[in-house]
Amino acid sequence: MTNFEALNAIPIASVCAALGMKVATNGRARCPMPEHEDRDPSFSLRQATNTFKCFACGEWGGVIDLVMKVERLDLVRAVCWLGERFGSEVRPRQAVRAAAIRARPLTQPKIAVEPAYFPDTEIFSWLMTRCPLRASGRSYLEGRGFSGAIIARFEIGQVDDRAAIFREACARFDLARLERCGLVSTGRYGPFLAYPSDFLLFPFMDQGGIRYVQGRNLKDGKARRWANLSKLAPPAYNLDALTSDASTILICEGVTDVLSAVELGQTAIGLLGANSKVEPSVIARLKGFNVIVVGDADDAGQAFARALVARLGSHGITAMTRRPPDGANDLNAYLLQRRSNVQ
Ligand SMILES: [Zn+2]
Repeated sequence: MTNFEALNAIPIASVCAALGMKVATNGRARCPMPEHEDRDPSFSLRQATNTFKCFACGEWGGVIDLVMKVERLDLVRAVCWLGERFGSEVRPRQAVRAAAIRARPLTQPKIAVEPAYFPDTEIFSWLMTRCPLRASGRSYLEGRGFSGAIIARFEIGQVDDRAAIFREACARFDLARLERCGLVSTGRYGPFLAYPSDFLLFPFMDQGGIRYVQGRNLKDGKARRWANLSKLAPPAYNLDALTSDASTILICEGVTDVLSAVELGQTAIGLLGANSKVEPSVIARLKGFNVIVVGDADDAGQAFARALVARLGSHGITAMTRRPPDGANDLNAYLLQRRSNVQ
């Protein structure tokens, strides 16, 4: 009988090495999938779970999956492939690791380590379930012109008691894991939740998982308007739009403009901050859409739009810029103008 568990416990970095891959010390590599020509390292190893995921083509799995996909083998042949190369090491997980470390010759490249900070969809899902939207958050969002349907569709949540959430999170997940996904800020009196009490929470959903959560202050004009995860770069917002049937997609600045665009019947993704760059994986997924970049009407917004169109053009994607309609500074201002004209 074949012990699949033992095969899947072979250190995945060693399997990558046997597949001829070059894995950086942060666990990143160019995607080895035969169908995916990956110019940037979109492929990532997770040592904790001994799995891989490619953020560009979406392939993921364990050791056996990796061999099947890269070598185009069926299950039986993939098991043989692993057996030929790692047969003597196929033992329960801990023993495999210890043996691999002992047996590693000095000349072998370093085993990849897991990146220090990494999205944790399980923790982000727990957070969003724990933090439903409250009356204050709903009335704020309605004041920005958003309907109940949009608020529900984007699964917007809200922090109630920052300290209580942090205690519950620590009881459920260990602190190191919370730190790795950026949920922890460190202050003079110790660690605390990255989002202050009462902040809105916007989950960044992508292909069935939450990759990021951004917090927003309910009070406009306050010094601290947004709260981000520690040390994790935010991906684009609403990436699930890239799986839609729409022919045209808008690229907006930030979460609020994406919600406004969708409220106005458009399909949109958002980049955070006017200096944001587009991840290579997102550029690949934009192919086939008519891309329209809607920057804010101010100089910074227009500079953002022009720079983005140029960058997309260098990757073979034709994009146009468009100003927010009717002299509005951004799409949310336009949405609010429309709402007040109707009433
Ligand atoms: Zn890939």
